[in-house]
Amino acid sequence: MTTDTHTTSGNEAAGSSPTWELSRRDLLRIGAAAGAAVAGLGAIEIARDPQTGVTPEGAGARPVTVPSLCQMCTTACGIVGHVADGRLLRITGNPEDPNSQGSVCAKGVAGPSVLYDPFRMLYPLKRVGERGSGRWRRVSWDEAYDEMATRLKEIRERGKPEEFAFQQGRNRSADIVARFLNAYGTPSHFNHRALCSSNRRAAIATTIGESDWDLGDFENSQYVLNFGSNWAEAHQGHIPVAIRMMRARRKGAKLVTFETRMSNTAALSDEWFCVKPGTDGLIALAMANVICREQLWDKQWLDAWSNYPAAKVAEHVAQYTPAYAEQESGVPAAVIERIAREFAAAAPQCTTICNRGSASHRNGYYNDRAITMLNALVGNMGKVGGWCWHPNSAWDKKALPEPGPVPDKPKAKSVIAEAKDWPLANAFEGKKMKVAEVIYLWIKEGRQKVSALMTYNADTAWSFPEAQLVRSVLKDERLIPFHVCIDVMYSETAHLADLILPWATYLERWDIDSRPPQSLVDYVGLRQPVVEPRGESKDIREIFPELARRIGGGMQTYFPWKTTEDYLEEYFKPVPGGFPRMKATGIWIDPAKKPLYEPHLKRLTPDELDGAEEDTRTGIFYKGKDEKTGGPLAIGVRIAGVPRRGFLTPSRKVEIHSDFVVGAGKDVGREIQPLPVYEPIPSHQRDLPDDHLIMTSYKINVHNAHRTMQSKWLQEISHTNPALLNRATADKLGIADGDWIDVTSFRPDDPAVPGGDGSKVGTLRTRVRLTEGVHPMVLAIAHNAGRSVGGAYATNGKDTADNPGYGEATDRDLDRLWWKGAISVPQNDLLPIYPDPVVGGQSYHDTVVQIRKV
Ligand code: SF4
Repeated sequence: MTTDTHTTSGNEAAGSSPTWELSRRDLLRIGAAAGAAVAGLGAIEIARDPQTGVTPEGAGARPVTVPSLCQMCTTACGIVGHVADGRLLRITGNPEDPNSQGSVCAKGVAGPSVLYDPFRMLYPLKRVGERGSGRWRRVSWDEAYDEMATRLKEIRERGKPEEFAFQQGRNRSADIVARFLNAYGTPSHFNHRALCSSNRRAAIATTIGESDWDLGDFENSQYVLNFGSNWAEAHQGHIPVAIRMMRARRKGAKLVTFETRMSNTAALSDEWFCVKPGTDGLIALAMANVICREQLWDKQWLDAWSNYPAAKVAEHVAQYTPAYAEQESGVPAAVIERIAREFAAAAPQCTTICNRGSASHRNGYYNDRAITMLNALVGNMGKVGGWCWHPNSAWDKKALPEPGPVPDKPKAKSVIAEAKDWPLANAFEGKKMKVAEVIYLWIKEGRQKVSALMTYNADTAWSFPEAQLVRSVLKDERLIPFHVCIDVMYSETAHLADLILPWATYLERWDIDSRPPQSLVDYVGLRQPVVEPRGESKDIREIFPELARRIGGGMQTYFPWKTTEDYLEEYFKPVPGGFPRMKATGIWIDPAKKPLYEPHLKRLTPDELDGAEEDTRTGIFYKGKDEKTGGPLAIGVRIAGVPRRGFLTPSRKVEIHSDFVVGAGKDVGREIQPLPVYEPIPSHQRDLPDDHLIMTSYKINVHNAHRTMQSKWLQEISHTNPALLNRATADKLGIADGDWIDVTSFRPDDPAVPGGDGSKVGTLRTRVRLTEGVHPMVLAIAHNAGRSVGGAYATNGKDTADNPGYGEATDRDLDRLWWKGAISVPQNDLLPIYPDPVVGGQSYHDTVVQIRKV
């Protein structure tokens, strides 16, 4: 991570004067209006010369700086592109961004190496051999549009719009994607949230109702309990969390991490406890036990603001003793007791953080409910230095609404997108999790017909669990007769497409974007091209309007603007200075807004109360009709005699006990516990033989997903993913450091899981790295490795294909690929489809594997 890489003082110290220069070809279209806006706004640091004064080869032009947003991961940090003569020289952080505050990580810095990757796909390609043969013909955009329009028009006119399925990966252009799909009328919009954060989101949504994302106020905190978040290397809020956490640490805040592996985050902690996978929630419950038993709680807050009184919470958690938690997790009871006391003593300036380490388990939903409850117990919710959230998880969409006309949601139904077997997958309004890992299994089983599939920034054939099953489905033209792949790089998924559309990188395209505000003030950002798109690559903001026009049938009416800039001009009208200002600064924050602590405390105004009815039993105020449910609309709750906004749960309080989730379960015949509980993971409970381990996965600081593997800069830093094995375990098995092992994985023997019959999933061969930094029962393998296609850098020299899609496969560094042939294995091929039975989140850390020395 680099911090404060681009600041006003730094520039001033270097003696550079503020400039805002246009490139020779005016390619960024930041014209006189933007320049005027900058001048008018005054201190726009990002409009200054870069410190180095580096000039492009031969051009002699002075670099200009262009603010934009990163998309090397999902955190969307503000960045500044330093450009000269149309070429991006480097990327630094944008200090205007309230989340990342001018910092970028190694992945963010590596953006130019993806932009200029010699193996990028730069032209539309049409398959000429059988699907998967890797034989392609370059076609014009006109031909590509015609083919797509013909296919999609036929499906739509047949009255079966749901047969057109859209599979997205990381999507930061949600507005345009939803507009296109809704205008078309298809609900078959598949995401990958269940492979990411759905269990955690559902746990938070259950508890507070108004957000599915917690934003610990780390910077003001004195004590942070980390349950398996690797915020120092990954996490959806990677840089924003990391900079605040490190500031807090410098001020003396204590950080305690529970994690199965010694991640960089664990290494940065005051204390690290190596836990057995899937026991995080039990540790939290045992701490709750201590806090209740010793009355270290904030009873007054709990009794006022929770829907479950303190005494009843105490009764519930009495079963989760520290001794039981020690037996299951391996963390000594005395440690659990001590840390519970320390955490409560720091309240309200204490908070938890968690993520996939706790949530991506079969019991992940309950783990995260237990962790969230811990905060309610000590009364830190919404407080300075405590466990916070913001009702706007992006920009304020009331202040900046989408320009009309906006199409309605489709009336057609999608069996896969609305999978009913997991009651909480789609239970929370506006927070559709869906169940990504079953998509291709269900297509294979014929549960939903798919006549056309469009994959967008989604390498499902490599990154999904049981990726070999995904590949077999994508290969089968009877199951998917037409597959269009939109991506930057050639991937395992592109390899199984009929048509490949070269996507513009995030450095060549536009977006309106922002992330949950870590400083508790919402903001809006602009992603803008820092250079022109290479080759014939295009963004979906250009592709979709044209495709809609060719499909016709009314779709075109939802794309009335001529260019994306016209659309954004309209979108940003409510921002003072409008679109030109956004182009100049990249970020806008309403200066009237202050950090939003304790939003639930807002008093209902006389106007709000006028005409409202109070339920005297519950204290809830109702006024008007709830459009979604048709019932009365709750607007607040009386607490200690004062009418307040409350939380957006059914009780308007923090729901430690949820009747809502119990009801959602009953609707589909599945039992959901009303309270946070510990459910042991069945396949971990058996007496596993010595050579059977629990396989977990993780990310390291320089890799994210398939795109980062295309970066030669990042691949040079990390290009292998050996299996991490505890030394003591290795000694028992006679395995030495560097030995080759075969890893065989099994589906869980679990009737609640699709295909859960204990059968074998697959075997891969890799090398072992011995360490004390992993639990003795665990085999840890990073899952961002093991590409088979995508060019020489992404595959450690394996992909030598002369692919016509590889626009300019020449690069002076190709001869210097010193890591050629390094071992990089696809862990996703070993992972069974393993959704948590309640929400459907993939249990990434629960796979039982057998290892054998080769
Ligand atoms: S954290 Fe993510 S968005 Fe931020 S700089 Fe790194 S890769 Fe880019």
